[in-house]
Amino acid sequence: MGYDIERFVGYVNEGLLCSICRDVLEDPLQAPCEHAFCTACIHGWLVHHSNCPEDRQMIDVSLLRPLYRYMKNDLNRLQLHCKNREYGCEMVCSLESIDRHERECEYSQIPCSNAGCTVQIERRNLEGHLAVCEYRSRECPNGCGYTILSAEDTQHNCVAELRTELELLRSEMICRVEEAKHEMESRLDSQRRHMVQKESILQNEIEELKSQMSRMMSDVRSLMAAERQHRQELEQAELEKREL
Ligand SMILES: [Zn+2]
Ligand SMILES: [Zn+2]
Ligand SMILES: [Zn+2]
Ligand SMILES: [Zn+2]
Ligand SMILES: [Zn+2]
Repeated sequence: MGYDIERFVGYVNEGLLCSICRDVLEDPLQAPCEHAFCTACIHGWLVHHSNCPEDRQMIDVSLLRPLYRYMKNDLNRLQLHCKNREYGCEMVCSLESIDRHERECEYSQIPCSNAGCTVQIERRNLEGHLAVCEYRSRECPNGCGYTILSAEDTQHNCVAELRTELELLRSEMICRVEEAKHEMESRLDSQRRHMVQKESILQNEIEELKSQMSRMMSDVRSLMAAERQHRQELEQAELEKREL
């Protein structure tokens, strides 16, 4: 909503001030009546009004245009202090390049780069903070392979860490062995069922063969009896022939 006029070095033309916030135009737009406003200011104004706050002429968002080029140039050339002046930044540069400076300004407050750390700190002090940040982490110096947060440094116990790891591995192993056992058992079970089925089929076939055989045996016996009968009859006939 405009750049605080106090930040500017030297005279600022009245025409480069926003009619709404009275500060120096930020991201300016111009109405057909040639009054200029910060984009945020005029958009906010037009939510509840439909005229120019300066001269009451009717305006509409669709009628807003970029600032005249010569005005834009004048605006861009204005010199101003960095917004971090109160924290010690002595930078003065053109409005055009102030954003770029402020993004990299050593006095800007930035969050600590360590995950979990909520500290906000001036960019120039970040390095010093990182050296003592409670959320900085490092590899365990005793070689257990764990990354330890500085805040947990004193509680870190390689043996305990490794023991929990071991417990985890052990229970995982037990799980896997159980699974393999189950798998094996179910496979054996199905094989067994299959064998039992086969056995009963074979048993039936054997029974069938046995009964066929006994039928054949009785056939043979009756054939042999008939044969014996036949031979006796022949012998009888032979005898009778001789007696004649
Ligand atoms: Zn404004
Ligand atoms: Zn106007
Ligand atoms: Zn600065
Ligand atoms: Zn930190
Ligand atoms: Zn360790």
